[in-house]
Amino acid sequence: MTTTRFAPSPTGYLHVGNLRTALFNYMIARKAGGTFILRIDDTDPERSKPEYVDAIQEDLSWLGITWDRIEFQSKRLDRYAEAADALRAAGRFYEAFETPTELDLKRKKQLNMGKPPVYDRAALALSEDEKAALRAERGQGVWRFKLDHERIAWTDGILGDLSIDAASVSDPVLIRGDGQVLYTIASVVDDTEMGVTHVVRGSDHVTNTATQIQIMAALGHGHPEFAHHSLLTGPQGEALSKRLGTLALRDLRADGIEPMALLSLMARLGSSQPVELVDSLDALIEGFDLSSFGSAPTKFDRDDLLPLTARFLHGVPFAEMADEIAALGVPADLAETFWEVARANITTRSDLPGWWHLFRDGGAPKVAEEDRDFVADAFARLPEPPYGPDTWSSWTAEVKAASGRKGKGLFMPLRRAVTGLDRGPEMADVMRLLQKKPTL
Ligand code: GLU
Repeated sequence: MTTTRFAPSPTGYLHVGNLRTALFNYMIARKAGGTFILRIDDTDPERSKPEYVDAIQEDLSWLGITWDRIEFQSKRLDRYAEAADALRAAGRFYEAFETPTELDLKRKKQLNMGKPPVYDRAALALSEDEKAALRAERGQGVWRFKLDHERIAWTDGILGDLSIDAASVSDPVLIRGDGQVLYTIASVVDDTEMGVTHVVRGSDHVTNTATQIQIMAALGHGHPEFAHHSLLTGPQGEALSKRLGTLALRDLRADGIEPMALLSLMARLGSSQPVELVDSLDALIEGFDLSSFGSAPTKFDRDDLLPLTARFLHGVPFAEMADEIAALGVPADLAETFWEVARANITTRSDLPGWWHLFRDGGAPKVAEEDRDFVADAFARLPEPPYGPDTWSSWTAEVKAASGRKGKGLFMPLRRAVTGLDRGPEMADVMRLLQKKPTL
């Protein structure tokens, strides 16, 4: 039974980078008919906020990403304490008392000597008396997991055969001095107890994976399949980390990005399969292939979402838009025509009111000095609305006969005078939606 999870920490809003992780895990579970768990990694009581827990669910729901159950790490602290006891009993857990400043100093010395900044395990040499003295002086120590110094190897679902020399990694701190359980052990316990079969996450977790494989083994368990996707960069390859705030899913939503546009892009970006707009999550799941993703950083350009959004809207049938269009105040008998005309000329839904206002009120006329008389005469030949499908052709035929103008010289000044724009829908369509006789 395939089981995956998406495990955000509720310390901020989800951004496009998180979405990739969520989507991959979701699609793997759905494609296999398995289980997808939303796991809230909230062991840090200071930084975890209930409003982010709500926002995570809201954002995933907006995209149609559903989970079979939700789990909270904060409700499972007893399970982690049990695992910590087991590691203690197995001799794989030791207490260390260095202050952050001391650790920093050690790292600097190592770097100066050209050595990797790996924790030197000085705490392993402490006697019980020395520990008691340090505890009395500094309070509880942190608990570190004692790695076996060997190569930790696995076959990664994206990166292929990987191995990491455990000696190049510091023994990870699993419990802080104040008793707070850290993600590394909580995740191991959850992945094991919840029967997670596949863990897909960002390549920033590769070293975590190595240590977690050893912790799982120390607790008597095998490990799930791991896959690490590349991290997103900006269009020029620049790190996205600073801009991720501005790439929050809720901001994209507020900017009018359509869920299927976002999902279509994120499901393929960085893979050997081309990005194509699909109209359902099912279609994405169908075509999803984790092995088609590469290890190179994936360039993300927010602007790519706009043409996809426009194409998506282009294909939306009127019935799905009827309420939104009615809410704009478009009269019922014009609503369908309005949608057919407007949808080819919008990038996001937020462009719709602008078009309606233009048809309702007319545009601010753009008239070149040399066209003033021509336009004034043409407007004088136009009756009061309502206009029909033939208004444009009969009107321009009359104006053509009267002015002797034709082609661009005839149509363009009229388009600019009626709409205030150089481009837009067919003028025949504009005219039949126009609610007011244009004036100069
Ligand atoms: N809470 C962790 C994170 O957001 C989860 C990593 C994982 O998937 O194990 O980075």
